[in-house]
Amino acid sequence: MGSVRPPAEAEAAGARPGDHEMAMNCKKCGACCIAPSILSAIPNMPNGKPAGVRCVNLTDRNECALFGRPERPSFCLAWPPTLELCRDSFGQAMQSIATLEERTRS
Ligand code: SF4
Repeated sequence: MGSVRPPAEAEAAGARPGDHEMAMNCKKCGACCIAPSILSAIPNMPNGKPAGVRCVNLTDRNECALFGRPERPSFCLAWPPTLELCRDSFGQAMQSIATLEERTRS
């Protein structure tokens, strides 16, 4: 299984031009911590995580327990919320990220 590229990296590769122009406030739906596969180790998930699996560091309030801490993975820092990616609901965000993963699979 490949790993989705965070929006900043995907845009640099030409996959989603314009994402950063559509920045928005995070709605804390949690989709960006569930939908993508992460191949590198995450604190408390040494083998990373498959797509669609909830990160164990995501709290019940859909907040990252590692937020602001140096051990928060760089992969996660590269996911700014955008209108195009997050859209209007958790379900739409999950679909957007799944589509991005499919398009940027390496
Ligand atoms: S480490 Fe934090 S930001 Fe990264 S996927 Fe897990 S909960 Fe989300």
